[in-house]
Amino acid sequence: MDYRKLKAHKIFDGYKFIADSVLIVSKNGLIEELIPVENAGDGVENFNGILCPGLINCHCHLELSHMKGLIPENTGLVDFVFKVVTKRHHSEEEILHAIEDAESEMLNNGIVAIGDICNNELTIPQKQKERIWYYNFIEASGWLPSVSKMRFQRSINLLKEFSKLSTSSSIVPHAAYSASQNLWSEIQPHFENRTVTIHNQETAFEDEFFLRGKGDLTRMYEMMKIDNTHHQPTGRSSLQSYFDKLEKAKNSILVHNTFMKQEDIDYIKLKTHPDSYRGKLKTFICLCVNANKYIESAMPPVEMFRQNKCSIVLGTDSLASNWSLNILDEIKTIRKNFPLIPLEEILQWATINGAKALELDSQLGSFEKGKKPGVVLINEHNLSSKRLVY
Ligand SMILES: [Zn+2]
Repeated sequence: MDYRKLKAHKIFDGYKFIADSVLIVSKNGLIEELIPVENAGDGVENFNGILCPGLINCHCHLELSHMKGLIPENTGLVDFVFKVVTKRHHSEEEILHAIEDAESEMLNNGIVAIGDICNNELTIPQKQKERIWYYNFIEASGWLPSVSKMRFQRSINLLKEFSKLSTSSSIVPHAAYSASQNLWSEIQPHFENRTVTIHNQETAFEDEFFLRGKGDLTRMYEMMKIDNTHHQPTGRSSLQSYFDKLEKAKNSILVHNTFMKQEDIDYIKLKTHPDSYRGKLKTFICLCVNANKYIESAMPPVEMFRQNKCSIVLGTDSLASNWSLNILDEIKTIRKNFPLIPLEEILQWATINGAKALELDSQLGSFEKGKKPGVVLINEHNLSSKRLVY
């Protein structure tokens, strides 16, 4: 059988850096083994940089790729969401082209799997090509209790279409402030043993909305002419108002978390303690730092997540709220804002942690025998990347 023998300054195996080793990969991309340089024999290919398993993007909206550059920076979340839902004048052809280009961009940037938010069927033709792994998150939203049945049925219909693909799919809520209690009741039974994701505490107003029923989100519903009189503030933070509803899921990926507080992490720890009845729910904190910069000019409390030993993963969000779909661009921003975090740790977030969150760790995320994670060469100095093995 034919093998490639790959060597670089460093090899990151999904967990840690390994020195003086050679990665043996079969011609079809299966990891054979990591062996000491002295045992590798002839035919070793030498590279400058870090050899790394393919990168995992845990939060994207591929279907919004045609919106690149359309929404100005620093609008704040409320005006951002309003603009996304009102800018709808693109041809299907334009949208499909943008989806294909965006996927190619991610493929070339070393991304091998994507947690992708889906509100329509337009990404299906691209996903049928199976160039990248996907976990399709069928997004349910609807703040008016009266639309919950119709919105839920729409999600079920979409789930049927996405289930024809070879990758996993689940129904998920968009955000705490956009799913009525009625809608939650419809979708909750579908969380069982799935990975579920939600936009969490992306704006400071999200907590304000649940604590006191005030703030910018009430302005959003006024702008959208959506009746908000049914809203009953819980007197608790957004996360603490909905987190119990995820109890049946296998994994939960909380996205953004820009305004999450220690008391919210304490709440998750309490509810998911191994002795509690929700002990099996694993929670992942997904950082989308460039989108936070783009929309809110804010940074999530990354050091707080590290101190609490949270399982961190990375996402790009969409081209409506980011300049690129590139996990290494996310890492650059994290390094700039949090220079003390070792690169080795951030690469874990981008590889094995992401693979676990998307339930793809039997195939992806590390250089372990029998996996087919892809191999990316990363330039340690400018964090550019090159795909070596697909
Ligand atoms: Zn998003």
